[in-house]
Amino acid sequence: MTAETYLVINAGSSTIKYALYDANTLALLEKKTLEMADKAGYDAAFNDLLKLVEDRNVKGVAHRVVHGGRDYAAPQKLDDKVLADLEALTPLAPLHQPHNLKPAKLVMDKFPNLPQVACFDTAFHRTQPRLNQLYALPKDLTDEGVLRYGFHGSSYEYIAAVLPAIAGDDIAKGRVIVAHLGSGASVCAMKDGKSVASSMGFTPLDGLMMGTRTGAIDPGVPLYLMEQKGLSAKSISDIFQKHSGLKGVSGGISNDMRVLLNSPAPEAKEAVDLFCLYAARQIAALTVDLGGLDALVFTAGIGENSGIIREKICGHLKHLGVTTDAKLNAANGPAIHDAAGSIAVYVIKTNEELMMARHIDAVIQRPPAPKPPQAPKI
Ligand code: ADP
Repeated sequence: MTAETYLVINAGSSTIKYALYDANTLALLEKKTLEMADKAGYDAAFNDLLKLVEDRNVKGVAHRVVHGGRDYAAPQKLDDKVLADLEALTPLAPLHQPHNLKPAKLVMDKFPNLPQVACFDTAFHRTQPRLNQLYALPKDLTDEGVLRYGFHGSSYEYIAAVLPAIAGDDIAKGRVIVAHLGSGASVCAMKDGKSVASSMGFTPLDGLMMGTRTGAIDPGVPLYLMEQKGLSAKSISDIFQKHSGLKGVSGGISNDMRVLLNSPAPEAKEAVDLFCLYAARQIAALTVDLGGLDALVFTAGIGENSGIIREKICGHLKHLGVTTDAKLNAANGPAIHDAAGSIAVYVIKTNEELMMARHIDAVIQRPPAPKPPQAPKI
């Protein structure tokens, strides 16, 4: 019998990423991305997953689910009721939620007794004060759930979990902003390892400029596109989700930061510079929610690997006391601040899958065995 494993699934519209962990040690055994170009690819990918569950002695499955709404503030064991609740949240994340839930349903149909857990991008942010979750909208819309939810929760939770070992307890308990800069990008303000505010809001479109997403934008822009140019909601959604950000500003050169950094085109430079300006502005804004800043952490593809981008962003934040050491920054940290700066700056590799593996492990661990009766005192 092969060793027991946990399967961690991140299913999107065109790929399913999965990772397999040893259930005893939580060591990573295998990580793969299944492409699903068409319906046949889709079915093949799901069949591969179901086969994996059988062949690799999977004892629990964790799913990345983008939206947990207002109620789900922690990883949640899946059953029919929870699945129905999560399906009802689809209008809040139509591009992600149905894809996230599909493998969970398939696995539940085929292996009804196998424990499955949903890990929400929103859950980590449910600790935010009410004021930080509000938009300046009519109260009935707020009451119906048009709120700032925040996303990238598993990434922030992982960083919060490893920060004490890297930066020490004082900093980890202090005022920390984490910049998750990948294809999707957001920043999160934390105090004592808990989310206080986030740049992503009602949807993952808000906040920073991203690979193909606009980030925060004047709400007058979609109105202009609708009223003056007659564009449909679908067309506007495509522009904001798929054709903006680095890709849009660079005039279509690329949504990939590496390509833009290597391009001599002025549009590429402008896209990179705008990305850094947006990120710095959002970081500065979140210092209001924290009442200052003790540490700034960079993570995800761009944050972990690009010293140039970190330098540019920190360059906008000098007035706050953020300074970096060129050599430490070029070496990708972990600590990259220079001695003169008043704010600690770190580069930390995120690991959302491992965080999810820890969650499924915690959920299905049996309660500890009862203690043996104490010997009577003599
Ligand atoms: P996601 O998981 O959201 O798809 P990642 O966290 O992997 O995204 O980040 C992808 C981004 O990271 C891409 O824009 C890619 O160009 C960028 N990236 C990866 N390595 C580097 C690097 N060495 N320098 C600059 N950008 C990088």
